[in-house]
Amino acid sequence: MGTVNHRIRPGYDVTLAMIEGTEVRSLCAISFVPTVQVGTSGLATDPTAPDCPECQDLYDITREAWEAKKRRNAANRDLYAAKKRYRERVDEILKAREHQGEPVHH
Ligand SMILES: [Zn+2]
Repeated sequence: MGTVNHRIRPGYDVTLAMIEGTEVRSLCAISFVPTVQVGTSGLATDPTAPDCPECQDLYDITREAWEAKKRRNAANRDLYAAKKRYRERVDEILKAREHQGEPVHH
């Protein structure tokens, strides 16, 4: 395992872990105590270290999922707005009918 920079799983505070000397876990499931020297590589410092390809893959998948979730939320908002417009339109139609004195069937 060469020196690579991992991505820390969400929920871990790297700065706090550095101060308290507690372990963090990377997306690719490596546990280590981050320090100023090792940063997010978990190994002796190498400023030219590349990003961990496994962490990168997992991060990309996470981002895809996040984008899909955003699209789903937007679709839910559109659906809710359309249902609301539908109910409002029905109310308008029924009110207009009442004004015309036509029988209203709810
Ligand atoms: Zn990794």
